[in-house]
Amino acid sequence: MREYSRHYRQRIVQEAGHEGQRRLSQACVAIVGLGPLGSMAAHMLSRAGIGTLRLIDRDSLRTNRAAADDIRPLTKLPKAVALQQALSRLSPGTRTEALVADVSALSAEDLLGGADLILDGTDNFETRFLLNDYALYKGKPWIFGFARRTEGMAYAVFPEDPPCLRCLFGCEPRRAETQICDPSGSLVSAAHRIASFQATEAVKILAGWGERVDRRIWKVDVWSRFFKSIAVSHLENLPCSGCSCEDYPYLFPETSEKRLALSGRNAVQICLVSELPIDFREMAERLSGQAEISFNPYLMNISVEPYEITVFRNGRAIIEGTEDPQRAMSLYQRFVAA
Ligand SMILES: [Zn+2]
Repeated sequence: MREYSRHYRQRIVQEAGHEGQRRLSQACVAIVGLGPLGSMAAHMLSRAGIGTLRLIDRDSLRTNRAAADDIRPLTKLPKAVALQQALSRLSPGTRTEALVADVSALSAEDLLGGADLILDGTDNFETRFLLNDYALYKGKPWIFGFARRTEGMAYAVFPEDPPCLRCLFGCEPRRAETQICDPSGSLVSAAHRIASFQATEAVKILAGWGERVDRRIWKVDVWSRFFKSIAVSHLENLPCSGCSCEDYPYLFPETSEKRLALSGRNAVQICLVSELPIDFREMAERLSGQAEISFNPYLMNISVEPYEITVFRNGRAIIEGTEDPQRAMSLYQRFVAA
């Protein structure tokens, strides 16, 4: 009854309806990437009455360095955990799951399995192409979103109704082009527009009104007040290899998982083929006197000027202060894997 009144205003909107709201309350949405897009969409979906939100992000909250200097030692919370705590207070009717993890070909099923819809909050096309392959392979809808500076773009992908993201951006894009992390921030109002589009289309699909979803790319520039819907129906007859031949190169890569991935923003991420379980307490004792250490149940911060190393429990690490993979690996071996 409490949830009835919480979502009453939405329930009386004809487009959602009682049956639609019931479906939303039983649905699970996986949000991958919890920057401005993903976190705003999570807030909107929780208030729309989505039953379960799975919050997935590999990173921790970035602290302002000047501010952080005053309050060290400061342990950062993973973005997924911080957002889960906020949503638990604001929308207790929505079940939230926080997963501090990197979505890769190896981890996709563990992280995304069971979700009814996937919402894109990532900042790179490599992950988006993986999400696209996974969604096609599993027959799940997903919603692409992108925001940079004052502009943004969004599009809902249906697995059995091309075009998909690879149909739009090229069947076989060079991997190097899709691995670029976008270092530019976005104006909050631009990200808000895109997150709003993503959340609305997600609600339509999950409430049983998928036929109302606009099958065009939605483009916006809030600075110049430019809004446009771009038709893509002409691409239906030019399907990518995923849509036409069930070929999913990002989900089933020929080579094994890479060990190093540049995460941009003057940082290198190190992923291991096999997990390396870390005992934070033991590591803190070992590094005592060598570096400034702080940790919580999710991650450990190792501060060695001019570097900042964030280590997660499975051995994954993000090394800030360098873009040189070899330098990052040598720091990892010295402080983490020693
Ligand atoms: Zn396609």
